[in-house]
Amino acid sequence: MSNSQLTPGVVPGRLPADAYAKNFGDHEPPLDMHEARVAADRCYFCHDAPCITACPTSIDIPLFIRQIATGTPEAAAKTILSQNILGGMCARVCPTETLCEEACVREAAEGKPVEIGRLQRYATDTVMAAGVHPFTRAAPTGRSVAVVGAGPAGLAAAHRLAMLGHDVVIYDARPKAGGLNEYGIAQYKAVGDFAQAEVEWLLKIGGITVKTGMALGQGITLAELQKAHDAVFLGMGLAGVNALRAAGEDLPGVRPAVDFIAELRQAKDKSALPIGRDVVVIGGGMTAVDAAVQSRLLGALNVTIVYRRGQEKMSASGYEQDHATSAGVRIICNASPVAVHPAGGALEVEFAYTVDGPDGLKPTGETFRLRADQVFKAIGQTLSGAPEGLELAGGKIAVTGAGRTSVPGIWAGGDCAAGGEDLTVTAVAEGRDAALDIHATLMAARS
Ligand SMILES: Cc1cc2nc3c(=O)[nH]c(=O)nc-3n(C[C@H](O)[C@H](O)[C@H](O)COP(=O)(O)OP(=O)(O)OC[C@H]3O[C@@H](n4cnc5c(N)ncnc54)[C@H](O)[C@@H]3O)c2cc1C
Ligand code: SF4
Repeated sequence: MSNSQLTPGVVPGRLPADAYAKNFGDHEPPLDMHEARVAADRCYFCHDAPCITACPTSIDIPLFIRQIATGTPEAAAKTILSQNILGGMCARVCPTETLCEEACVREAAEGKPVEIGRLQRYATDTVMAAGVHPFTRAAPTGRSVAVVGAGPAGLAAAHRLAMLGHDVVIYDARPKAGGLNEYGIAQYKAVGDFAQAEVEWLLKIGGITVKTGMALGQGITLAELQKAHDAVFLGMGLAGVNALRAAGEDLPGVRPAVDFIAELRQAKDKSALPIGRDVVVIGGGMTAVDAAVQSRLLGALNVTIVYRRGQEKMSASGYEQDHATSAGVRIICNASPVAVHPAGGALEVEFAYTVDGPDGLKPTGETFRLRADQVFKAIGQTLSGAPEGLELAGGKIAVTGAGRTSVPGIWAGGDCAAGGEDLTVTAVAEGRDAALDIHATLMAARS
């Protein structure tokens, strides 16, 4: 007998074969030309547009929307990509509901913003589908820069440096470039092989060599990179995960949500991926929501997110929380994990109810248990493998200005650097700005 949602344990193929393509297909389908023109016509092309200020990469949103409205999506794409070279991915994954679209004057007036994200996708998809790379390199500077990490921060830094005429070598620990675009973002946000297609398109600028399977600290050292290159940019993200600090967290069946998501992203056939009937996700952010929703999409029957504080404190936005609940995920707040117990071939997670008062989080003394075939820990990532000798702040690499670390000649940006939100678009902005500062520094040293 084949498996169903009711099958106990952790098994593949809980859903009918055709359900997977639908479940992991485009979360928000792309706009066609007519729909894009109609959506663009809703923009007031505001002077001092608040949407620009709300965009971490400061894209000239009214300009690109006007370019779409006038039938020139290629020009619109260039406007976007000149500020944000990963504008295609950001159009898919940005929490626009808390950024540009939240700031849009039509959101304030009517509760329905201009669909900036979908319009951005329309424009960037147009140039990528045509195989056009709208930028060219400046004359060679003779300078070389090492970039550690091929995630959004590293790719944005590398592209800007290459455009300015520097030679760039990207070193990444993983087998594929893209960082969390490839291994973390929910599958239904960036369907198909979009992350790899975008990397290939970005590399068309030329002058960038990507060396995968090369981890800083394992075979290469910072001193070697400093010797071989004129500057180093660290965009190594957060490769470690926080521990639950609950008894039993090493039991089989308990694992980091990011590992589950990476496996899911790399699985060509989602129906072959085993998933529990009962899944418990511990955490309150985007990772928790993505792990929970994708567990449901794989066919898990009961998926529960448990967060230790009140719902208003969850770092997943209201939009993401609604997305989770509409996918059938249950959210329990004010409960903190105490222990994971073996329970007849499955697990039981014991939680303590909490109150979040002026003196911090306190257990109420009452506990409850949830049955789980799988437990995903989504309580945050940590910096791991950062080179010695760099000053840290709050567990991340301390930076000043445009990503300058405490060591001259070394810059950092994206999730591994202190300050800023851990978002794809923020990583792109920080990578780009560090690249401009590296360029200015290298050119000043030459003159
Ligand atoms: C599950 C999940 C879902 C997310 N969803 C969203 C979303 O929908 N929207 C959004 O805006 N943000 C989302 N984020 C956050 C976003 O993905 C990150 O903020 C962004 O990827 C950070 O980019 P980065 O380049 O700093 O780091 P990363 O994307 O983590 O890239 C770092 C790169 O460095 C490499 N590396 C690490 N250590 C070494 C080393 N020692 N040597 C060499 N290379 C190394 C890694 O292999 C990786 O390729 C999500 C994050 C997670 C975990
Ligand atoms: S705030 Fe809204 S209406 Fe105004 S320019 Fe931006 S997208 Fe257009």
